[in-house]
Amino acid sequence: MSSLVPSPWFLVPKKIGIMGGTFDPIHLGHLATAEAVREFFALDEILFIPAARPPHKLGRHVTDERHRLTMTLLATRSNKFFRVSDMELKRTGLSYTLDTMNELHKAFGSSTELFFIIGADSLADLSKWHAARELVAKCHFIATTRQGVDLDFSAVENFFGSAASEHIHRVTTPGLEISSTDIRERVRLGRSIKYLVPEAVEEYIFNERLYL
Ligand code: ATP
Ligand code: MG
Repeated sequence: MSSLVPSPWFLVPKKIGIMGGTFDPIHLGHLATAEAVREFFALDEILFIPAARPPHKLGRHVTDERHRLTMTLLATRSNKFFRVSDMELKRTGLSYTLDTMNELHKAFGSSTELFFIIGADSLADLSKWHAARELVAKCHFIATTRQGVDLDFSAVENFFGSAASEHIHRVTTPGLEISSTDIRERVRLGRSIKYLVPEAVEEYIFNERLYL
């Protein structure tokens, strides 16, 4: 009689969501979005990857990566499906998503599918990303709604062709109108950031005197 041999764990197909961002600071909009996407697409885990020097944010000051990484760790520690990677922070030079995805494909193997989570505001700019067409061909994108942003998907389809409908999935997530820009501004003005960031992140911001 034949018996089923369990596949080695590394051959079990996995679906991993990637949440990239500057996380300056990470807030409940990021966290609620990641959790909603994980549940909707039945992803095995979400990997939060703070960006080193985002090419589109070269013009403005970005808080020291040590602080952004610590806040990301603090914010994600209560969710067993959330993990944090410092791979982009360790890399020298500009941070390109294509390099990150290639590195992850190598590390996880071909049985793992990668889903890059991207807000509607970032999706509108996707065609301008480094090697955008190659990137969309290689991995899946999950485009989430963001309040105040009307997503023009036909522009995305025009640029990416059939890869758009095959590799860019859209999902409606709880619309939390929170942005890191607003949080930084609130701290500077001495206004409350309660219920916009996890408590541990709020404490960290005040203890380290960030955004003043
Ligand atoms: P900043 O105001 O500094 O640009 P941000 O709030 O937009 O910060 P980012 O770190 O730039 O945060 O965003 C990382 C990713 O998270 C992007 O794909 C962005 O679209 C998405 N995102 C940010 N805030 C929200 C939110 N409130 N709801 C859903 N997605 C969000
Ligand atoms: Mg942003």
